[in-house]
Amino acid sequence: MKKLLAVCMCVMLTAGMLTGCGSKSSVAGKDTLIVGTNAEFPPFEYVNDSGDPDGFDIALIKAVGEKMGKSVEIQNMEFDSLVSSIGSKIDMAIAGMTVTEEREKTVDFSDSYYTAVQYVILPVASEINSYDSLQNCRIGVQMGTTGDFIASEVAGSTVSRYNKGVDAVNDLLNDRLDCVIIDKNPAETFVSIHSEELKALDGAQFGFEEEAYAIAMPNGDTQLVSAVNSALEELRKDGTYDELVKKYIGEE
Ligand code: GLN
Repeated sequence: MKKLLAVCMCVMLTAGMLTGCGSKSSVAGKDTLIVGTNAEFPPFEYVNDSGDPDGFDIALIKAVGEKMGKSVEIQNMEFDSLVSSIGSKIDMAIAGMTVTEEREKTVDFSDSYYTAVQYVILPVASEINSYDSLQNCRIGVQMGTTGDFIASEVAGSTVSRYNKGVDAVNDLLNDRLDCVIIDKNPAETFVSIHSEELKALDGAQFGFEEEAYAIAMPNGDTQLVSAVNSALEELRKDGTYDELVKKYIGEE
């Protein structure tokens, strides 16, 4: 009997070690995932006609939650506050957020679920068409975004930072800016509303690099990261991911 007990203890200890005993996922035991976003970034996140956060990211994270057996509650907040709120006010963030080395110092990212690049929104008659021609320009960006980081490095630039991309676009329409640097899909959405006045140029011609969007989670929460990655993989396999791309983003 003693021997059996010892064997049992041994098995339990090993199992504990293998599953990372004491390093339970931060959402273990929670029925609801609190997910932060900034619903100012169509088509990934926006407030719909009923006043609710909607968009590709919102639908995707709800589907991820469903795969994990949890419901999802969306917290709409400023983009710039998302990273620092992960693990305290929110369990994770989905916000068209690009994986950057700087952010990786404080959060862990899921596998990437979308690829993007920064675009440059310009008045239709603007002659800006290269990285050098951005020099000394008045550039509007959404605060704390990769567009902000890029604009801040342009020689002689005056960068105006907004909480909402749409406010930057309005200042461009009012001639308070020379251009707006923002991610491809929101740029295309904003320009489609003002196609007479504005155009959007692909950042590739400015030398901007591709960016990978991913879901941000607490640093070191490997259990949560792998649960989210498994859910993402299942959603790709069962066709849900493609359906959501088609519904919210359209064919590429
Ligand atoms: N992809 C950009 C970033 O991560 C912008 C995201 C956003 O404005 N929601 O910084």
